[in-house]
Amino acid sequence: MSAKDKPSSTSSAEPSSNGSPGSGRLFVISGPSGVGKGSVIIKLACRSNFHLSVSATTREPRPGEVDGVDYYFLGEDQFREWLDEGRFLEWAEFSTHLYGTPRAAVEEQLGRGIDVVLEIEVKGAMQVKQAMPDAVLIFITPPSIEELEARLAGRGDTADIARRLARAKAELELADQFDSRINNDVLAETVGEVLLLLAPEVPLND
Ligand code: ADP
Ligand code: 5GP
Repeated sequence: MSAKDKPSSTSSAEPSSNGSPGSGRLFVISGPSGVGKGSVIIKLACRSNFHLSVSATTREPRPGEVDGVDYYFLGEDQFREWLDEGRFLEWAEFSTHLYGTPRAAVEEQLGRGIDVVLEIEVKGAMQVKQAMPDAVLIFITPPSIEELEARLAGRGDTADIARRLARAKAELELADQFDSRINNDVLAETVGEVLLLLAPEVPLND
């Protein structure tokens, strides 16, 4: 997801209609790289109010990605400093790089009664479930491995594709640990299914 597509991470969020201050809900959207998590979240952001967590990573920015919007792009030493300081709610290594969710922003938004969405890989999702058992874990699956490969290639991830596909196969085996599994075949239908979990009050044909 590049900065031009990325939903505003804070400004449009208002307390969820069924939440009181201090009772925002935490949603984790996970699944293999390339399955369409970012695409789903962009569409969701038009239909529902939530705070999208900005992760930190040691990987290089893709063209169009902006520091502080798409990710906090950190050097490995700085990432490890944040780790030692306990600043991550969860973290994981993915495809030779480190990724983590800064804890403070998540806690602040939940404390204000605002729902928070994390878009993270599977090991991190498992850590969130341990730390915050009320979190709702959603796993997005691809229609097939061939389609996943095509989506990764279509996004231009060719250098990394074999590594990401191998990881995807391992991640799919953990899908049954999630609260919900949603197959991302037709994007609009996937968005509707996730919306039912996030904001059931929003009409599907809205
Ligand atoms: P992720 O965030 O899970 O890594 P992306 O949202 O970047 O995945 O999607 C990877 C590629 O797949 C993008 O080119 C996106 O346009 C495409 N894509 C996403 N969902 C679908 C879908 N339901 N059908 C076809 N292509 C899709
Ligand atoms: P990408 O390099 O394609 O942006 O992300 C690679 C993978 O890392 C994706 O599956 C993405 O969901 C995941 N990811 C992004 N941020 C985080 C994070 O903060 N923590 C964890 N555990 N995974 C993340």
